[in-house]
Amino acid sequence: MSRPKKPSGRVCTECSATICFENRTGYCRPCSTRRLTTKPGIIEKRSATQRATKARPEVKARLSAIYTASRRRVMENPVERERVAKLGRDYGKRNFYQNLDEEGQAKVRAAIARGLVAWCPVDRLDENRDLRRQGFKLAERKQMILETVPGTDEYARRQMQNIPVVMRLRQEREKAQAF
Ligand SMILES: [Zn+2]
Repeated sequence: MSRPKKPSGRVCTECSATICFENRTGYCRPCSTRRLTTKPGIIEKRSATQRATKARPEVKARLSAIYTASRRRVMENPVERERVAKLGRDYGKRNFYQNLDEEGQAKVRAAIARGLVAWCPVDRLDENRDLRRQGFKLAERKQMILETVPGTDEYARRQMQNIPVVMRLRQEREKAQAF
């Protein structure tokens, strides 16, 4: 497969292994592979390229066709089909959600909902939902709810804004008491 290599006098930038005349990277095969699979900048660039490629309609269509064909091959083969079906049944049995009673499932759904709005105190979830239905954006709802919850940044900020008011009220009261 590989042609006999002419002595090139060139060596790998990383490990000093001999590399051939035609080498364009300056790295031997193992070093080049290691570089391409571990350097953060290179990985990010490649991921971005892959995402862009997969987003192209014609590529999407081709991948979808490949997936459909492979799925069809599995389903047309009785042995494979049974194997996949068994996986599904076994997984279903292990799926704890399916084995819960109605109350248990409701609890899980509530926990998931709480996770999605983890910033919101549990006893204010209904209020958050009502505000959302009235069309308030997330940032607005957060502000409106959390500025009444001691210990949050929003609460602290609101208290700061109130200080001048509080000071004025206190001064007025002291003035009134002075007479
Ligand atoms: Zn090398």
